[in-house]
Amino acid sequence: MAGMLQESAEGSGGASESATLRVLRRVFGYDAFRGQQEAAIEHVTRGGDAVVLMPTGGGKSLCYQIPALVRPGTGVVISPLIALMQDQVDALRALGVRAGFINSTLDFDQRRVAEAEFLAGELDLLYIAPERLRLEATTALLERGKVSVFAIDEAHCVAQWGHDFRPDYLNLSMLGERWPEVPRIALTATATRATHREIVQRLGLTGARDFVASFDRPNIQYRIVPKRDPRKQLLRFLKEEHQGDAGIVYCLSRNAVERTAEFLCANGIEAVPYHAGLDAGTRAAHQSRFLREEGLVVVATIAFGMGIDKPDVRFVAHLDLPKSVEGYYQETGRAGRDGLPSTAWLAYGLQDVVQQRKLIENGEGDPAFQRRARMHLDAMLSLCETVRCRRGQLLAYFGQEPAEGAAGTSCGNCDTCLTPPQAWDGTVPAQKVLSTVVRLKRERGQKFGSGQIVDILLGRKTAKVIQFDHDALSVFGIGTELGEAEWRSVIRQLIAQGLLEIEGEHGTLVLTDTSATVLRGEREVPLRKDPAPVKAPRQTAAAGSRGAKSAAPVDLPAEAQPLFEALRTWRTEQAREQGVPPYFVFHDATLREIALQRPATLEELSAIPGVGEKKLSNYGEGVLAALAG
Ligand code: ADP
Ligand code: ZN
Repeated sequence: MAGMLQESAEGSGGASESATLRVLRRVFGYDAFRGQQEAAIEHVTRGGDAVVLMPTGGGKSLCYQIPALVRPGTGVVISPLIALMQDQVDALRALGVRAGFINSTLDFDQRRVAEAEFLAGELDLLYIAPERLRLEATTALLERGKVSVFAIDEAHCVAQWGHDFRPDYLNLSMLGERWPEVPRIALTATATRATHREIVQRLGLTGARDFVASFDRPNIQYRIVPKRDPRKQLLRFLKEEHQGDAGIVYCLSRNAVERTAEFLCANGIEAVPYHAGLDAGTRAAHQSRFLREEGLVVVATIAFGMGIDKPDVRFVAHLDLPKSVEGYYQETGRAGRDGLPSTAWLAYGLQDVVQQRKLIENGEGDPAFQRRARMHLDAMLSLCETVRCRRGQLLAYFGQEPAEGAAGTSCGNCDTCLTPPQAWDGTVPAQKVLSTVVRLKRERGQKFGSGQIVDILLGRKTAKVIQFDHDALSVFGIGTELGEAEWRSVIRQLIAQGLLEIEGEHGTLVLTDTSATVLRGEREVPLRKDPAPVKAPRQTAAAGSRGAKSAAPVDLPAEAQPLFEALRTWRTEQAREQGVPPYFVFHDATLREIALQRPATLEELSAIPGVGEKKLSNYGEGVLAALAG
């Protein structure tokens, strides 16, 4: 394929269709490029270096796949996601692309086959894990063959201070030195400005052009709720809004993962656990089920899901606070790659902050590393407690402006926009909390966390209160105007505003440099009221108006619904016969279009987005037969 298409690699914008557009249409079955894709693809195809920052689902893969198909030689893709390489390669082969991979899962013979194919020029794309490039045998192999482009996927892994550093990535700067004539393209879906700079510097990409898309994911509804009874809250969220949908639930500990998966199963939701404590076989089996079945829930530690290409993940739920905004954005980004409505739901409470702080203090890492970890946590906290649009705050964190929207202040598809939090003047309660903290500080050598503060404010004579004579303090019982949950909310917000800090492994509350201004009455403290628990699923245009029982993942007019279901049934059969995930056959978005447009001929079918040449010849007749019913 490469040789055949290379003749007009420079011909973009001319009267005739460019080589890159032709590949987009014939191989991938799409009509037009999206956003920055075209510019990036043309640039790399012409031999330029590029840094591509696009959100998950933004279409990064095409940015290196198409240059690899158009330029002579093999595109080498460096990716840390070993567990996914087989699937990525299978998906490409289903499109008629000659793809292979080399990683530690291959035995000797399989590796020899892949190497031979590469040397014979029989591969359009070759996926390699970064650690393999440390081996002289690998670089020697690449030198003996012909490389068309180097793609460095998940490029944020090179950032030493980022949230996902991988030492093997540092070695990749040698690519530009050893292959100065081969274009390089670095791609990531999570980069603050600082990380972006670090990618450019550490990979030696100073001459590269940047292609930065908006990080907005308009189809994802962001919601952050106060944690009360997290598993019950989760169950309700799933039953009311995502019955029958595929999704991921993240928990911090293995134990919580296991118990949450059991809880969901006991309550009629099919769920499997995934964490590093399970043996490799079980993990692989659960991941494979998630990819291949419709509507399975995986409960996981963050080990799960990086780079998972499943397009129809309808929700990502967090039962514990992520460690950073980058992590939160990356994890929630696994929802809705197909562009259809999806939900990012997080339950968080004061205890999360205390726990994360302890993890940081007790963890390894030098003081600079710990400081960095605290900054990451503070930014996450501030996102949780914001009264602003969550989307706006997320984008601002990545140095971007929200898309036009309503004066740029409201996205209409996050909880704070849908039900704006009520503000209240929290100056007096803040003073009460801070004065209590001051009083406890005088108790030398003793450490008290939020629980003791709340007990004192509420005037509770607990054993620990009596033991330390805290019922004799002047602040004892001065806070009965609020309940326990409200006091916890006040404390959380004081921490988020930097007026209170959690210290040490016991979660002790201490004052900050700015606390005194509040105590002296020089500063007001605006707070938000915790929203009441949501009674019914919010029905918004973006969230869809699906009945709680429906397992259909897309909004469709009623008359197209049966057809869509018939197509899905047909797809499930095809996928089962071939032992591949259903979305390898067609994505939901493609089935949806087919159900809406009801193509009567192969030609009409080929005009549907996502139906390329190979899929048309493999499945065209089958689809038409399924439509004919
Ligand atoms: P990323 O790697 O940035 O997360 P992908 O490359 O997986 O995103 O693309 C996300 C989805 O969008 C995929 O289903 C892909 O097939 C689809 N897609 C990419 N580019 C286009 C396009 N130009 N037109 C239509 N669909 C596209
Ligand atoms: Zn919003």
